[in-house]
Amino acid sequence: MSEVPEKEIRSVVDQCADCEQCRDMMTEGCPFFPELYRLFDRERDRSVLISSRELLNLAQLCNFCGLCPCSDIRARIMKAKSAFIVRDGMPFNIRLIQDVEKLGRYLNRLPGLTNALFRIRVTSNIIKKMTGIHPDRILPEIPGRDFASLAKETGLGRKQSGSQGGKTRLAYFAGCSARYFFPDVARAAVRVLLKNQVEVYLPQQKCCSMPTMLEGDVVFTRELMSFNLKYLADCIESGYCLVCSCPTCGYMFKKLLKEKACYSSEYQEMVGADENYMLVPVEDSSTRSKETKHRRVHRSMYADILKDDGIFSSLSPLKRIHIARKTFDLGEYLLKLLEAGELDSGFLPVNKKIVYYPPCHTREQNMGLPYVHLLRQIPGIEIKVVQGEYLCCGMSGIMGCKIDFHEKSLEMAEPLLQKIREMKPGILVTECLSCRLQFLQALPLVQAHPVEVLAQAYGFKESESGL
Ligand code: SF4
Ligand code: SF4
Repeated sequence: MSEVPEKEIRSVVDQCADCEQCRDMMTEGCPFFPELYRLFDRERDRSVLISSRELLNLAQLCNFCGLCPCSDIRARIMKAKSAFIVRDGMPFNIRLIQDVEKLGRYLNRLPGLTNALFRIRVTSNIIKKMTGIHPDRILPEIPGRDFASLAKETGLGRKQSGSQGGKTRLAYFAGCSARYFFPDVARAAVRVLLKNQVEVYLPQQKCCSMPTMLEGDVVFTRELMSFNLKYLADCIESGYCLVCSCPTCGYMFKKLLKEKACYSSEYQEMVGADENYMLVPVEDSSTRSKETKHRRVHRSMYADILKDDGIFSSLSPLKRIHIARKTFDLGEYLLKLLEAGELDSGFLPVNKKIVYYPPCHTREQNMGLPYVHLLRQIPGIEIKVVQGEYLCCGMSGIMGCKIDFHEKSLEMAEPLLQKIREMKPGILVTECLSCRLQFLQALPLVQAHPVEVLAQAYGFKESESGL
């Protein structure tokens, strides 16, 4: 890690100012590049140097949405963010709200009281001030019954012994938002999978670590991932695949976790590299095939560049790769069933006009839009997709909640919000629960995760207890 965070982010400013590609391309949805070019232009035209404070603020604007073209630039922004935290520390209130898991657990202990306190303006403002949340940010109702307790009661947290008559075995990673704030989403996911004869198991899990990574807290990010790795690798060993209903968790496990793991000595040894050549996988289409294709690169030229030195490099590279290869987005998995003729097609009509927004981290998984195909199987449904490669809800993990980012986040979301308003949805559907928070703030619309619509079409009712 760089000892001087300013140096790291400054090198990004210089490289992107030199390249210029993102000056016109990243004007919507990304707060980072407009600010980068504003600072650079000011320095060039008026000789006002970019200060250390401005470099810190700039780094904090990146939410790692993955929409910009250069992954190494994103990685360097994150590196700078982390280096600022290591050197300057993290404010207490951010440390508190970045731990979504703990926050969710505590709030669900006294849901009635929490909801009442947030309904009263005075107490709500005091709590928000103490935690660094903007006073106008609307927070979801605390459900009172989190998904973890339902899973415990229904035996979902126990692995079934032996083979269950050839059933597919899935370990479900529900994510913090679905476990603690929107448990109906997690319940709908499990109902739809059970309806399709899949064996579902809820392994022990903590936050996928994206919010803490976005805040630059490397130590806590590794701690969370290390916990997840232990339990998820164990599932993969026992023949389970991993499925995520949250696109951010899916993006983390499929893409970010395994980044650079193939350069490790363990992987190189496993694929039979020799002392002269490294074997580098030809990304990304081959990640699920048994026969990963490689290209040979000469060690004398590349060994110093191609290193497993990312944020998760202290964790087993082989486990990281195994998990990435066995992880599916829930929609992607259900579409596989549909394509194989194995999806239960007993859908009841849902006569609704749905507007579907594909979130950034679904787009980043390069898997198309599986939920659009799935929802089209439901009779009576009318579905329109919000189109726009660079549209973003602007929520950026917990950033949209923060006092100094709330307005910016709504500004970023405005092009997307405008499009949705014009489409006049009966229900607004997206699988990202961070997007749902932003839409809750800005749009008076009924919202659902696509799997909730599928569960409804299978005849499940939210009011029914159990699974
Ligand atoms: S992110 Fe990449 S493409 Fe965009 S300006 Fe920077 S160097 Fe150029
Ligand atoms: S990852 Fe997203 S927010 Fe960060 S610089 Fe790229 S486009 Fe902007």
